[in-house]
Amino acid sequence: MPPQNHPSMPLTPSPHHRITTFPPPPAARYYHSTLSIWLSVDPMADKYPGVSPYVYCANNPVRLVDPDGRVIVPNDDEAGHLYIDYKSEVNRRLNNARVSLSELEQKKIAGERIGNRKIRRAQNEVNKYQNIYDELTEMEESQTVFRINAHTTGTSVSAYGSTTYDLETSEVNINVGDGQRLLNENGFYEYITPMMILAHELKHGHQYIKHEIDFNWDGTQGGCLFDYTDELAAIRRGAMFGYININSLERAYKLGELQNRKEPRSYDSLTPMQKQSYDVQKANGFFH
Ligand SMILES: [Zn+2]
Repeated sequence: MPPQNHPSMPLTPSPHHRITTFPPPPAARYYHSTLSIWLSVDPMADKYPGVSPYVYCANNPVRLVDPDGRVIVPNDDEAGHLYIDYKSEVNRRLNNARVSLSELEQKKIAGERIGNRKIRRAQNEVNKYQNIYDELTEMEESQTVFRINAHTTGTSVSAYGSTTYDLETSEVNINVGDGQRLLNENGFYEYITPMMILAHELKHGHQYIKHEIDFNWDGTQGGCLFDYTDELAAIRRGAMFGYININSLERAYKLGELQNRKEPRSYDSLTPMQKQSYDVQKANGFFH
């Protein structure tokens, strides 16, 4: 966890170890729609109807087309750097956590008094980053194409980032803005960094393939499965990679209307009748 409220953190983390080349995606993946849906949902103020998740779905059917790709595609070099930097950071922290854990275990074997709680905490740290690593792997191997777009500030309604579904290409757009420096109530700067935004939006991408969220008929994030717990998970994920006070961020979110919607956790948690209703609506293109 980076220090909170650090007044001198750079806006972009670790620019000095940027990797300048990124393996180009297969040619077919270059296909990019000029009709990308940029009607996006602001991750910092996700929109959602306050009514029952089963009555609000709009009635503009859009045919569901299964994408044939199975990769995370950066839209350009910048987006590639963003993804590689993020994955490297996850790897770095995972390795550090593993080293810490094994050092503790070695000491214990050697007869040093190491408390179980300390071991457990170190194990939790390993699990935390292993979990993110596994999510990224699942996304890379899934049938869904995730297209990462950098510098999207100003191109969408969101100042920070968004996760949207491209109705033409059937790709999921991970839109990452340039972030922002914020002066907090204590007079310290906090930073919403591009890596933080990427981590947040990729969490939504993973939630999508796990059927924890869906996309509305117009491609915007949301749909019947989207609830407060999904947003909270993304906020917490993002905060692991930015310089921000997670408590004030969560507090700000709790003031939103999404707080009143904490179900359903996922498609799997629906009752058989709800599943049936969801399936019918999905087949009719209400969401993807
Ligand atoms: Zn979000």
